[in-house]
Amino acid sequence: MKEHAHGIRLAAMVLCVAIACAGGIYCGSKVEVLEYAECIGPANAAKIPSAANTQWTAFERGTESRLAILLTEPDSAWLALAHGLRSMGIPFTVTRDWQRALRHRCVLVYPMITGRLLDAEALKELAVFAREKGTLIGVGVLGGGLNELFGFKEAIESNKRFMVKFNTFDAPEEESVPVGSKANSVGTYGYSEPSAERLADFPDGTAALLSRKFPGGRAYAVGVDLGGLMGVGFNSRAEDFPGKLRNKYQPVIDVWLKWLKSVYRSSEPGRVLVGTVPDGRAVPIMITHDVDYEKSIPNSIEYAKAEAEAGIKATYFVQPKYIRDHNDVAYFGKEAVEAVKKLNEMGMEIASHSISHSKQFAQFPLGSGSENYPDYRPFVRNQYETDGGTLFGELRVSKFLLECLCTSPPVISFRPGELRKPDALAQALVASGYRYCSVSTANHSLTHLPFRINRDRASLIETDMYEFPVTIEDEELPEMDKRFDEANDVTGKIARNGGICVVLIHPNVLDHKLRFMKRFIDAWKGKAWFGTMKDYGSWWAARDRVEIDTKRTGGALSVELDVPVAMTDLTIIVPPGSRFAAAQPAAITVKQEGEKLVLRGQIEGRISLSLAGVAE
Ligand SMILES: [Zn+2]
Repeated sequence: MKEHAHGIRLAAMVLCVAIACAGGIYCGSKVEVLEYAECIGPANAAKIPSAANTQWTAFERGTESRLAILLTEPDSAWLALAHGLRSMGIPFTVTRDWQRALRHRCVLVYPMITGRLLDAEALKELAVFAREKGTLIGVGVLGGGLNELFGFKEAIESNKRFMVKFNTFDAPEEESVPVGSKANSVGTYGYSEPSAERLADFPDGTAALLSRKFPGGRAYAVGVDLGGLMGVGFNSRAEDFPGKLRNKYQPVIDVWLKWLKSVYRSSEPGRVLVGTVPDGRAVPIMITHDVDYEKSIPNSIEYAKAEAEAGIKATYFVQPKYIRDHNDVAYFGKEAVEAVKKLNEMGMEIASHSISHSKQFAQFPLGSGSENYPDYRPFVRNQYETDGGTLFGELRVSKFLLECLCTSPPVISFRPGELRKPDALAQALVASGYRYCSVSTANHSLTHLPFRINRDRASLIETDMYEFPVTIEDEELPEMDKRFDEANDVTGKIARNGGICVVLIHPNVLDHKLRFMKRFIDAWKGKAWFGTMKDYGSWWAARDRVEIDTKRTGGALSVELDVPVAMTDLTIIVPPGSRFAAAQPAAITVKQEGEKLVLRGQIEGRISLSLAGVAE
């Protein structure tokens, strides 16, 4: 590590611990800290409010055009399932009333069908429904005498099935997908001696997904606890899942959501979904940079110039490093501050990458919520030890300093150093004033879709935080520009499933990484939506609250949208062959490209659309 020469004054602080003298930089128990005279704070204190468990009744809404989840056991992973359906844009309601559920044409029973959870009349009517009226999806069909309806002999429970093999798939990566691991098992039921069509199998020869068609309806038996699987992914607990790889297309949750989407769409003509990409584009691409090294500061300007030249905006996760430690010098001096100000002026998003960038971040205590600059002084001794770090300190002080020194728009996106994930991160982020995070990789999240995250990386309480997982990163070998074709291919496959592509490039070097970035932007320019995490995040958060109900009369479809948070360029997916006819309010501009209907400009509130030409 080299000596630094910043305009910002270096203060000396005595660190009251015995430090093993390894690198020689902070020997003599002195720590160097940069002083920003004009920035003392934040003055306010952060506090995590108490919160009750999220209730399923919060998702009970809308008309019978939606998928109905018949919740047979509230003590289950239904919230993750609800978040997954929202991410995929499938309109749904949740009910515990089977009679109400059976008024819908597409019903998903979760988490189990058993004689213990449903009475004899309900079970009988479910069977009548599947045979004569609609589409019945049973997750965990354990009993209740419906084995013959779904077409198997026995449901064999196991938490040791780790893979599912689909018998039809769109991409090779969608054939065999993980469903659990030793440390994070997901409940499965393998259906033995199936007489129904096998859509997917477990390695032990039992069926994982069965389909049976009747003259008036359809029955599907699902052998995977879909909410349980989604919970493992959305809580980023899939680290030991088989087959997880960086820089690859690895849909797990997405394969199931895509299947649910197709079942819902084919359950009746006239189904409408919420799109995942603004303006009907192919895929959202977010170029992001982690600025966590002295040399990355000047290099960032070169990346931003290339981005500005290409007409796109990127997100810079900046570590405002004011303490010299094992990781690096205290590089966030005057020149760095000026450089980050320049990035902001160029239209780039300035986001936080923590203060200490500690490998122990996930073990940091929550802290008091009153941590501030200059009192907050985490110290990374080596890769195994960090003194004085707190979760609130990392979140609050980095946001405050970046806002005070460099950027007028508030800092609302966060990415931790090395993607470390403390359990309390979601609630601490919300309490500290953040809205979006990129904490995980797509393969650890088991999805290429964004998703809403819960408190404590657990299943009970949702927060207002959204996660945008990383797919393409720069640290794997070979060097980035040699992986261009692969990255292109991965992005194309993500696009087919409505996922997002977050690219992470550390600006520590220019050459092969910058070459890759320019080429990648060129390849997707005009097709993809490019923007910052903040821009896509605000679009996604508004889109996540959009409600859709439809009513079909012959070949005409009326679509009622509720858009509670103002947004732009909402995309909805309409039935194949249908044509946009009219909108109310009439001032709304609508663009149709095949099945994509884009409501252009700013929209808010209740909107009615009429479509013609829907299949009958
Ligand atoms: Zn980093």
